[in-house]
Amino acid sequence: MLPFTSDYLSYLLTHPNDSEYAKAELPGGEQIELIGVGALVITPKHLANHCKAIVLSAGIHGNETAPIEWLNQLLDDLLKGTQSTRHPLLLLFGHPNAMIAAKRELEFNLNRLFCGAWQQGNSQEHQRAAQLASWMADFYQRFDGERLHYDLHTAIRGSVHEKFAVAPFIPQRPHNVSQLAFLQHCGVHCVLFYHQSTQTFSYHSAAVHGAEAFTVELGQVKPFGHNDLSKLDALDNSIRQLITHARVDWGNVSYKDCHWYQVTEEIIRHHEDLAFNFADDLANFTEFADGALLAIQAGEPILVSDGPKAVVFPNAKVAIGQRAAILVKAMSIAQCQHLTKQ
Ligand SMILES: [Zn+2]
Repeated sequence: MLPFTSDYLSYLLTHPNDSEYAKAELPGGEQIELIGVGALVITPKHLANHCKAIVLSAGIHGNETAPIEWLNQLLDDLLKGTQSTRHPLLLLFGHPNAMIAAKRELEFNLNRLFCGAWQQGNSQEHQRAAQLASWMADFYQRFDGERLHYDLHTAIRGSVHEKFAVAPFIPQRPHNVSQLAFLQHCGVHCVLFYHQSTQTFSYHSAAVHGAEAFTVELGQVKPFGHNDLSKLDALDNSIRQLITHARVDWGNVSYKDCHWYQVTEEIIRHHEDLAFNFADDLANFTEFADGALLAIQAGEPILVSDGPKAVVFPNAKVAIGQRAAILVKAMSIAQCQHLTKQ
């Protein structure tokens, strides 16, 4: 028996330490297991040959509430039996204690503690990253099939492109064209390709488990109850199609209907005095011309080279040694096609 019948999110936020295992059968015949705080595994009654092992995570940053509410709705529909799944699902509510505190993080940025980085500390975030990674490892070991992971976020600031995905970099592995087409169906028309390893959750699933994984940014941070979830309709429809059917043909990528960016460099905060030369509320993907002054750090100017380049995720207040912004350069369609060549 599950300790809730609907609205798991309300239960989670009022019982954040209740880690007891529970299981039940859903009206659609699937088995649902509560495997820990904020973690649920749903197993279809019949596992088809072409199963995908699908991980959906939200709330790795506690105040990014729209995808958390969306995930709760999907779960509600599975609990009611109005939604079924043909594929095993691992649903992860990332950081419940930060959700309760209405904060992005408590001590550390959870989305920089994967790929084993959780071993370097003992904060709530370090412990949580270890837990999430171990549930993911168990899940992918338990179920065969194509591994997928969509880690859903919202951004602190506005963005020139409201929704965008960050594609982790795995050397020698071309980007999967069908996944890019899927993202377009989700209403994500901007993709940013990383070219170095990171310690984010989606990089972890791609690098450690060979999953097709993306960090998906879905708009701007709002408190619980203040989100217009209709803005996630395209994502909602596409993920429901993905889990309802054994196979979905997502068609071709429309290269011209998407903005493609390559991450060219990171600005690291090496010094207390790092100061950006733009407003605090600068929208993500704001473009700067070649030679523009972006910031001053330790008396040295940081200028755009080989521009124009756009700034994404600027935050001068990160801890020393952390990434304070990334610079991206628009890619041509030919460059993008090259990345997806088999
Ligand atoms: Zn986030």
